[in-house]
Amino acid sequence: MQKFELKLRQRDIPENDLLADIRNVGERLHTDSITKTNYDQYGKYGATTLLRRFGSWNKALSAAGMGINNRINIPNEELFENLANVWQTLGRQPVGKDITKSANASKFSLGTYEKRFGSWNKALVVFVQYVENPDNQAETTIDSEGAVPISGRRTPRKINWRLRATVLIRDNCICRMCGASPAKDPSVTLHIDHVVPWSKGGETVIENLQTLCSVCNIGKSDEVFD
Ligand SMILES: [Zn+2]
Repeated sequence: MQKFELKLRQRDIPENDLLADIRNVGERLHTDSITKTNYDQYGKYGATTLLRRFGSWNKALSAAGMGINNRINIPNEELFENLANVWQTLGRQPVGKDITKSANASKFSLGTYEKRFGSWNKALVVFVQYVENPDNQAETTIDSEGAVPISGRRTPRKINWRLRATVLIRDNCICRMCGASPAKDPSVTLHIDHVVPWSKGGETVIENLQTLCSVCNIGKSDEVFD
């Protein structure tokens, strides 16, 4: 009944609302690969609305950051970046059972890593080799997110995920100012901070980066994400 009324209004629904609703259904069902039937049962708008807006169900899922687990040929880089994000969220090296879709910020399941690398331990070994490879660190002209350095600067302001992971692991995921870590207190969020702020000429290099908790980072600088 409600669905019929909302279908009439489909052009008015902001895309973000549609995507947020897909994610809500995913959270409710504890999966990131919800079906159209699931969505029709639990969603606010009806799967047809999403299909029309995004072209296909998979495109709708992917726009919502869901259903990624069903993708084939996910680049290793994406799997490693996700691993780094989970590591940062937990404040420690993740173990296999930490890698659960949509828990600990993970976009992929443990099975995805096991299929690709043979085992979780092997995934960790390859990850560390990849992060530590200087060829992967030296992206000073353009990083994976397309941040381009301003003229006169050697590095872009944005800290790519490999540098972030390297700094976190070097600092044992502990805030260098107050010692807080998500490993001890899950409410702690870690940031990577420029010791000399980028705005004052500090470069985005490992020597000028440190791990801070969000509280110390905001206290230190007016640039929250610096
Ligand atoms: Zn701190």
